[in-house]
Amino acid sequence: MKRLLTDLTKEQLASELSDEGLPKYRAEQIYKWLNDGVDFSAMTNLPKELRARLSEKYSAIGAEIVKIAESKDGTVKFLFGLNDGNLIEGVLMKYKYGYTLCVSTQVGCRMGCAFCASGRDGLLRNLTAGEMLGEIICADRYISEKDHGARVGNIVLMGSGEPLDNYDNVTSFIKLVGSGKNIGQRGISLSTCGLTENIRRLADENFSVTLCLSLHSPFDDRRVTVMPTGRKYKVSDIISSAKYYFEKSGRRVIVEYAMMRGFNTREEDARELRRLTRDFPCHINLIPLNDTDSGLKGVNGKEAKAFLKMLTELGASVTIRRSLGEDIEGACGQLKRRYVDGNL
Ligand code: SAH
Repeated sequence: MKRLLTDLTKEQLASELSDEGLPKYRAEQIYKWLNDGVDFSAMTNLPKELRARLSEKYSAIGAEIVKIAESKDGTVKFLFGLNDGNLIEGVLMKYKYGYTLCVSTQVGCRMGCAFCASGRDGLLRNLTAGEMLGEIICADRYISEKDHGARVGNIVLMGSGEPLDNYDNVTSFIKLVGSGKNIGQRGISLSTCGLTENIRRLADENFSVTLCLSLHSPFDDRRVTVMPTGRKYKVSDIISSAKYYFEKSGRRVIVEYAMMRGFNTREEDARELRRLTRDFPCHINLIPLNDTDSGLKGVNGKEAKAFLKMLTELGASVTIRRSLGEDIEGACGQLKRRYVDGNL
């Protein structure tokens, strides 16, 4: 693959292009085009021969939209193609306060969670920082046309992949999107199945994104039956790394909890979940399980409310996450699976 220029910071780009004999103002022009998702051929303030020379050696865009599914509720699911032909997904959600893009960080995933469709085929490869930025760039171009120049304002790193299993590229992306797209860390949520050493590393490196923990059960022996990473990373250690992250960043932590019938919504689950999260600022996000033919069943509305009530009465800060895009295969990995299987 050709070198992807959006992998580079502004300074790195200037130095790369200076090695090519280009002055600084050219690097500035190119940086701006790159962040707007413009390919070399359309960089109209560059001489034609320079555009041709650059496109021979480099690529400008890390992802392109291959398929779009629009939901009645305004949610949009993108299937993105990478320059090597791999496919990933992104989901755009519209809230009162603006647009949020759910970004993929890997092609596939090696965490092996039983309920998740993204990891069925294991990990194919990590995404580079510029490819993740490419997802934002594509979404921005799409929204800007539909909604008078609107842009992605918030990012959730909750698409396919485990962000903390691709630490260097994900943290580079967080920095790139801050400077190139002006999306600060307060607008970014990073969701992890609990790779504790890298949660501590995020804290030590002074990141301030919102940390989201995929807990799904407060008991190790149950959790490990649906999340194989639970063999190595124990709930108590995940919680203590989250407290450490809070102490360093000052950011409230989110616990994600997909409710599964007969598995994690008993009274004792509520009590233990509350006990684990009571002595630091923590919000519990209850998620209706998306069906992915895993054999695991979600709860119905009544059961969900009952679990919410138990936690509320125990004093927890807790809400049920609104389910968006159900009619367009909103859950991880589903759109790609249908596309690859030839059903789209
Ligand atoms: N690997 C990261 C981020 C990607 S998944 C993580 O584990 O957190 C984003 C969230 O969606 C996680 O909380 C994950 O557990 C959850 N999830 C995966 N499949 C789901 C499903 N079928 N229904 C509901 N939530 C699901």
